[in-house]
Amino acid sequence: MKTLIQLTLIGIGIYGFAKSQNYAANYNHRLIDTKIFTEKYHQSISDFKNSNKSIDADAEFDNFKNNFIKVFLKQFPQYALYSGLHDYDATLGIPDTKSRENDIQFAKNYLKKLNAFSLNQLNDLNKIDYHLIENQLNQIIWSYNELKDWQWNPSSYNVGEQFAMILSGQHTSLENRLKDLGKKAIFVSNYYEAAKKNIDKPVEVLQNLAISQNKGSLETFEKSIPDSIKVSKLSETEKQSILKNTALATQAIKNYIAWLESYKPAERRDFRLGEKLYQQKFGFDIQSSFSAKALYDYALKRKIFIHGEMAKLAKQLWTKYYGNAPLPDSDQKIIRKVLDTLSSQHSKPEEFQATIEKQLPELVKFINEKNLLYLDPNKPLVVRKEPAYMAGVAGASISSPGPFESNANTYYNVGSLEGWSAEDKESYLREYNNYMLQILNIHEAIPGHYTQLVYSNKSPSIIKSIFGNGSMVEGWAVYGEQMMLENGYGNNAPEMWLVWYKWNLRSVCNTILDYSVHTQNMSKEDALKLLIDDAFQEKQEAEGKWRRVSVTSVQLTSYYNGYQEIINLRDKIKERNGKNFSLKNFNEKFLSYGSSPVKYISQIML
Ligand code: ZN
Ligand code: ZN
Repeated sequence: MKTLIQLTLIGIGIYGFAKSQNYAANYNHRLIDTKIFTEKYHQSISDFKNSNKSIDADAEFDNFKNNFIKVFLKQFPQYALYSGLHDYDATLGIPDTKSRENDIQFAKNYLKKLNAFSLNQLNDLNKIDYHLIENQLNQIIWSYNELKDWQWNPSSYNVGEQFAMILSGQHTSLENRLKDLGKKAIFVSNYYEAAKKNIDKPVEVLQNLAISQNKGSLETFEKSIPDSIKVSKLSETEKQSILKNTALATQAIKNYIAWLESYKPAERRDFRLGEKLYQQKFGFDIQSSFSAKALYDYALKRKIFIHGEMAKLAKQLWTKYYGNAPLPDSDQKIIRKVLDTLSSQHSKPEEFQATIEKQLPELVKFINEKNLLYLDPNKPLVVRKEPAYMAGVAGASISSPGPFESNANTYYNVGSLEGWSAEDKESYLREYNNYMLQILNIHEAIPGHYTQLVYSNKSPSIIKSIFGNGSMVEGWAVYGEQMMLENGYGNNAPEMWLVWYKWNLRSVCNTILDYSVHTQNMSKEDALKLLIDDAFQEKQEAEGKWRRVSVTSVQLTSYYNGYQEIINLRDKIKERNGKNFSLKNFNEKFLSYGSSPVKYISQIML
């Protein structure tokens, strides 16, 4: 259930959840098209009756989907907000027993309606939508009844982001947004009262996270909203009323923080998810063709392979950078030393954005020359300095409006280094050195996230947009990096490959780490050893990763899983097509199914 929100919250290369700038328009067209189609169909129903069952089923399924998504977003207003639909901004769901029972009933109801369709009679894209809806509904029931993180995760209660999103929204005037927030604020104290009643055996690290994140939310209530009220054109009475409600909401958040600070439960849940829940969560969140264990085994093998390749490359580069200096006594030391030297080749802080901008047309040119896939020249990407509210989140990220928003542009946000200490700047630029920066651009933009987004918008499906598969999206971006290098991007420089392997190793080791910590009791000491010794990370990065794996589960596997599934699929198709295999066809066909789980794309393509 949290998938969508996690995607936007977890800060690595936030792709949000891929949306088209023209989505709202496309979606409306589709609704209208469906309606016309249905009417036409009913006029001539007798002609078709026995000859074309699948048209019948798909038309009915389209109607079902359109209705379903409307009621779903009403039932789960937070999803509406993240999708850019603002109809429910003035309300707030109260997470009490009644609402959970209600949600479960909703899910069971719609599962019944969904199951009335026969999967075999639907077209390929609808088959995938069927699976996505089914997965979503089952996941809701499972997370309430089995996972029960509403009991042990106090950080799942935090209204800050919703309020901040509405306040900074572009969908309507500031005055209207503030009025909505004023109404929404009324529900905040009941929201936190319900939260306190829910909490049972909280995980300690999540209790602390809840305290710090809710403290972070106070800024929105104590500063951003009052400041915005001041500059708004609301009447004095309206201003006072919104301020009063906001003050009550602020007090409710502070009460929750104080309650958490003093709450010492007799018993706590372990932060490790445990084998059974982990496998189930992996099933719902990743929707992989592998089991969690099978993916882990793949990752172990991949780690060994990458280490071998990195050692070869580092030795090859040794003389270029160190002449006749004696080789260190282990492969690991040689690799580390060469990587360290490559990191020193980086841009100047003030040229960082310009360097990125300059690279994008080069990527386009390379893809066209090598005929790797079709790039729509009518959909340029706008590079901009990272807006203040996302500062410090990621080096670069794609942001695109939700399916219900009609904003014109998709942006490539580039982090600014303004105000950073010289030391921080240097360490950041070393991380995003000249080689890494190109990989980042491939991943985030072309042919990575941005290109995938353009493709997925060609066959718009509101279901795939809202319940889209994060592992496919991330997997495509990682696969895209390898595909570019395989075709000679960067002149096949060993430096480029070595830096890429380090990057790839990160997602491989994230998978090993996540599985080991949550199902195999891996200690912090062993975790840091894995990240520092095997993945060539700095201590600080490794510490950060440990923190992340103790407050999340499964999400860290999504990159590598998607990548490995795509590689396996491509291998199978290569084998089947032999000499006739066309990379361009493979790439385009793969992308034509939107942000669907690779498992289902594979079933169709094979
Ligand atoms: Zn430097
Ligand atoms: Zn990504």
